Amino acid sequence: MTGSGFDDLLSANRDFASDFAYGGFDGIARAGVALVTCMDSRIDPLRMIGLGPGDAKIFRNPGGRVTEAALEAIVLATHLLNVNRVLIVPHTRCAVASSSEDEIRERIAASAGTDAAWQRFHVIDDQVAALGQDVHKVRSHPLVPESVQVGGFLYDVDSGLLDQKY
Ligand SMILES: [Zn+2]
Repeated sequence: MTGSGFDDLLSANRDFASDFAYGGFDGIARAGVALVTCMDSRIDPLRMIGLGPGDAKIFRNPGGRVTEAALEAIVLATHLLNVNRVLIVPHTRCAVASSSEDEIRERIAASAGTDAAWQRFHVIDDQVAALGQDVHKVRSHPLVPESVQVGGFLYDVDSGLLDQKY
């Protein structure tokens, strides 16, 4: 397929592959780390904790929430992929923690030009309290081994620092 609008990215990919150094890696997390964080473009999840490709499992969604799919990933990661530390990392100035669900729906409806009332957006009222609940979800999951360390951190998108809350 050509002319798809992805040409710049495919060109960059060929440059990337020209000196590719990760061929033959297996899929484990070599540093034993899994990280659940937001989709936010200001977050560089590997570099912010000094890791690189091959080191960690990364699961992202709006808000960096421990959803059912995130728990599925964590169970896989802790049993099959060498993970023994799990970091849950929401961040400051997160869109889903600073608007109500109605406000987000209104903005989406205005952009889409059609009704968005049926679309669920999982907004967060109290970010630190939600983080505590998410850490608890992982720690109390019957298939997450007790030996796994679980931490909850707030990432400051203006300083780059992690603040451990749990
Ligand atoms: Zn966010």
